[in-house]
Amino acid sequence: MNLSLLLLHDSNTNEDDIHTISKKLENVYQIKIGARRIQEIDSFAFDASREQYDGQKLLNKLIDDMKLEFFFWIIQDDLFVPLMNFVFGLASKYHGAIISFYRLENLDMKIKECIHECGHIYGLGHCDNECVMQYSNSLSEALEKPPYLCDECKTTLQKNKDFLYKAKNK
Ligand SMILES: [Zn+2]
Ligand SMILES: [Zn+2]
Repeated sequence: MNLSLLLLHDSNTNEDDIHTISKKLENVYQIKIGARRIQEIDSFAFDASREQYDGQKLLNKLIDDMKLEFFFWIIQDDLFVPLMNFVFGLASKYHGAIISFYRLENLDMKIKECIHECGHIYGLGHCDNECVMQYSNSLSEALEKPPYLCDECKTTLQKNKDFLYKAKNK
């Protein structure tokens, strides 16, 4: 079975990183990265007083644009959501996710956060186990979590994918 994901990134994102991240996501989630496309950020979501982009506005617009396609958008600019100073990324279950590399120092951390946000796309919530789905609100928390899914999340993922696959092929 195959649930393909559209990978979007801005033109500042390193091609080698994109390639590595694609392979990791395909491997962890047993999905296919269907296509890749450059998607630059639209200034409508920029908050000048904070010098950050409103992640929720960007995500909502993309959900409208994409309709039923799953998407994963990598950007270099800093993101916030209301009531938070910043977020590494945000996702909408069964739609898509945005991830910002702005605060992520190295490729390992970028990969980890991508695996985390992608988990939300396929319906995984936050997890207290030794698991990539642990909630992290700071760099040190993001550093500590492992880059893999725990067994519980793997089971949930399989159920969710079966559900999505059936819904898609009805
Ligand atoms: Zn999360
Ligand atoms: Zn877990």
